[in-house]
Amino acid sequence: MHDFQFVDGEFFCEGVAIDTVSAKVGTPFYLYSYATLCRHLQVFDSAFADIPHLTAFAVKSNSNLAVLKLVANHGFGADIVSGGELYRAIQAGIDPNKIVFAGVGKNAGEIEYALEIGIRMFNVESGEELRAINTVAVRMGKRASVALRVNPDVDPMTHPYIATGLKKSKFGIDSQFALDSFEAATHLSAIDVVGVHMHIGSQLTKVSPFLDAVKRILRLMENLQKRGINLSYINIGGGLGISYADETPPHPNDLAEALMPLLRDLKVRLILEPGRVIVGNAGILVTKVLYTKNGDGKHFVIVDAAMNDLLRPSLYEAYHEIVPVRQEKRDSMIVDVVGPICESGDFLAKDRELPEVKSGELLAVMSAGAYGFTMASNYNTRPRVPEVMVRDRDICVIRERESYADLVRGEVIPDFLQ
Ligand SMILES: *Cc1c(COP(=O)(O)O)cnc(C)c1O
Repeated sequence: MHDFQFVDGEFFCEGVAIDTVSAKVGTPFYLYSYATLCRHLQVFDSAFADIPHLTAFAVKSNSNLAVLKLVANHGFGADIVSGGELYRAIQAGIDPNKIVFAGVGKNAGEIEYALEIGIRMFNVESGEELRAINTVAVRMGKRASVALRVNPDVDPMTHPYIATGLKKSKFGIDSQFALDSFEAATHLSAIDVVGVHMHIGSQLTKVSPFLDAVKRILRLMENLQKRGINLSYINIGGGLGISYADETPPHPNDLAEALMPLLRDLKVRLILEPGRVIVGNAGILVTKVLYTKNGDGKHFVIVDAAMNDLLRPSLYEAYHEIVPVRQEKRDSMIVDVVGPICESGDFLAKDRELPEVKSGELLAVMSAGAYGFTMASNYNTRPRVPEVMVRDRDICVIRERESYADLVRGEVIPDFLQ
């Protein structure tokens, strides 16, 4: 996080003071550091340099076109979960041959679009989905490469909302049915079964769940081989955690080192789908204090960003560090940092010790680069905030703030109401 730091008591992103960006675009806004993004992309990819691999960035974590273009420039592919994300990936110049398509509910239109573009493969999550892909491919006279997503039933030891590899989860094919599902897939006329996929959860802070899951997948691959099914890809998903507070997640090198003995001698290509670990700590949300108020034993800091801008605290009770952008000596107090939205669940921090802040000053909500803007909504008819990328001393608005006119675009008042 060396690219977000205090210089003489003032908070900077690379060579630009946060105040300067605020003066240019107003508040709130998301701010990404180009240098941090580049470093994270390089560090992650080089960790796996020793084995043939494809790194597919999880677009749902941050789908801004400029971010995706940067990802493409580093040779990454994309892990997509919708037709909309496919459109974005292509717009940003990501090689279709490096795109993998996950998600439990791909519809026929999305499948057709992906076959038309010619993506690398679908990560298939059910037998019915497999047959749907086959049907569309047959109709189009194309072949579809697929990996089957297997649910390895391991506990990733993360928040229940972001655990995806347990038996009770909606994701993937139950491991006890996996062999038969693979077998069935090979009998479909337009399907090429090329790989196995897993993704056990997000914000993982230990290597062991990855290892346990990969071991289970390798056992499955051995059993598949006995049935004459030889795969070319093993996709271990994403999920590597970041440090929001005092977590100490494994470095990508640690993960690679732990996995290498298992994977080195396999004649398969590894696919990785990192999201959060690339963008999470490369972005912040900057918000302005509107008011402070004191209740009975309770202090509130009311800011101009809300749950519609950053949903993670409300949705997952996620912790985001919050720092005033001006460092000065002052007392601290325990506060709730809340937004203007008419919901009790609208908060960015609860019972948080913060320096005593005043109306008008700016706060940086840290580690907001992943699942920040991509989860933003227009709830309470609030325009979505701009996204800005800083590179050294350059400030570039990579998404403009929405206008009121943007907010009603596409809405129609029918004649009978006139
Ligand atoms: C969300 C998701 C990812 C990315 O997860 P991170 O925790 O952001 O790394 C990767 N693969 C799949 C299938 C996902 O659903």
